[in-house]
Amino acid sequence: MSPSRPVVAIYPGSFDPITKGHEDLVRRTLRVTDRLVIAVSSTSTESKKHLFELEERLELIQKIFNKDKRVEVRRFDGLLVDFARDLGAQVVIRGLRAVSDFDYELQMAQMNQELGPEIETLFLVPDVEYSFLSASLVREVASLGGDVSRFVSAPVLTRLKQKLGQ
Ligand code: ADP
Repeated sequence: MSPSRPVVAIYPGSFDPITKGHEDLVRRTLRVTDRLVIAVSSTSTESKKHLFELEERLELIQKIFNKDKRVEVRRFDGLLVDFARDLGAQVVIRGLRAVSDFDYELQMAQMNQELGPEIETLFLVPDVEYSFLSASLVREVASLGGDVSRFVSAPVLTRLKQKLGQ
């Protein structure tokens, strides 16, 4: 890789909704890359039904990072390596919270290595404060009336409350 070529990373996920764990990873990524594209997956299966529509998920992420020109938010469907190639991204970012993430993440990284050998997966570890945090847990706790204000930013909290009628 030429030293003058900007390093572009892509961070794929469902972000339903974006949590402070995701935000922590974005900040860490920007310490080692020039640009970051947050790629919000538009696919939804019966087993992974979304609470937030794609447009809402995109809008919330945009709100949180709107002051940072290095961060871009895009919807994405299809093969990750194709999307990364189209964007000229060299790096895929994934988070490792606990050993339980490892098996699946390793399989995905190795499959992506087969499909796109020029693209590297970079695993980042969040602050310990967020190491147990997942968007699904936030959805579950919030839907039961629990306080999730430590785990999501203000725009997400507001939208969660509206959505859940609290
Ligand atoms: P979820 O938060 O429901 O696990 P996502 O599909 O939005 O799901 O996650 C996208 C990526 O972000 C995955 O690599 C996941 O491991 C990572 N991630 C999610 N939450 C955290 C967190 N609290 N700390 C570190 N990485 C995280």
